[in-house]
Amino acid sequence: IDKINGFKEQKKPFYSFEYFPPKTNEGVQNLYDRLGRMLLFEPLFADITWGAGGSTSTLTLEIAEKAQNVCGLETMMHLTCTNMPVSEIIYALEKAKATGIRNILALRGDPPRGEEWKKIEGGFGYASDLVRFIREKYGDYFGIAVAGYPEGHADCVSKETDIQYLKAKIDAGADFVITQLFYDVDIFVDFVKKCREAGITVPIVPGLMPIQTYQGFKRMTTLSKTIVPQYINDNLEPIKDNDEEVKKYGVKLCIEMCNRLLDAGVDGLHFYTLNLERSVRKVLKGLSLVRPDQLSPYLPWAQSAAGKRLK
Ligand code: FAD
Repeated sequence: IDKINGFKEQKKPFYSFEYFPPKTNEGVQNLYDRLGRMLLFEPLFADITWGAGGSTSTLTLEIAEKAQNVCGLETMMHLTCTNMPVSEIIYALEKAKATGIRNILALRGDPPRGEEWKKIEGGFGYASDLVRFIREKYGDYFGIAVAGYPEGHADCVSKETDIQYLKAKIDAGADFVITQLFYDVDIFVDFVKKCREAGITVPIVPGLMPIQTYQGFKRMTTLSKTIVPQYINDNLEPIKDNDEEVKKYGVKLCIEMCNRLLDAGVDGLHFYTLNLERSVRKVLKGLSLVRPDQLSPYLPWAQSAAGKRLK
């Protein structure tokens, strides 16, 4: 949060990148190479997701450790309560602390596919319980972020109640909010307004996912029931079979959204990278948020140098 405030004082927007643990060893090595290259963009932080139900806990810890210590990225580790007895939560937090990780995105987590979310015996029921626990046990050692939902969380009774529960997470000690991805900027702006009215004063950072492929975009927005403004569907329809055009449109749309968000006064931009780098790089370039020398690492020698550092 101190770093976010530093950017705020300089009236400079920050950006951050999310990555997930890949399924294969080759994928992990590719991610390490990518993290090395993305470091040159000087993101405020890079975060590593926690696989649904704790399925990637060992790998998340391993990647987060390398991102922090080998790449030198300010790393944020996601941590969820799903299927996690307190003893395992403590293990993950101790491990994170021992490796120098200072930031946790505290989440409840999703239920295993097709099931309802259930708190396990000796576990936590909501992200706010996890936030409170981290603050009580570790004081100010960890910076804590929590998830916010501009369209309301899937299980929430109403958007208003959801915002009250978001406030409970802040009151329990969270420093800032990262939102679920969205494609309607007006919905985000309205959400921030309602959060402010509800007394949430911490930074609310929008989560953005540049569209990469038509099928992927459709699958993801259908699964997560994300609202897609009609003009986006209209623009995609004629190019949906041309992957390059879809990617190009994804970058253009993301730049437009970011510009509107920056005009609306957000402190920073959080990118769901899907472990890819080209689109995010083009978006940052389009927003003039990176210097020309930060784009040079794409020369082949720099790529292999970044890779070697991490092996
Ligand atoms: P909570 O804040 O606990 O809310 C969950 C639901 O309970 C909401 O409907 C809320 O309204 C309600 N609620 C909250 N408090 C109370 C209360 N006291 N009483 C009654 N109802 C209450 N999932 C992963 O598995 N791994 C990840 O790495 C991951 N990363 C994410 C990153 C971001 C930025 C976001 C936005 C989501 C991420 N998720 C991840 C998904 C997330 O785990 C799910 O959306 C999950 O269903 C909710 O988590 P939460 O922390 O928002 O839960």
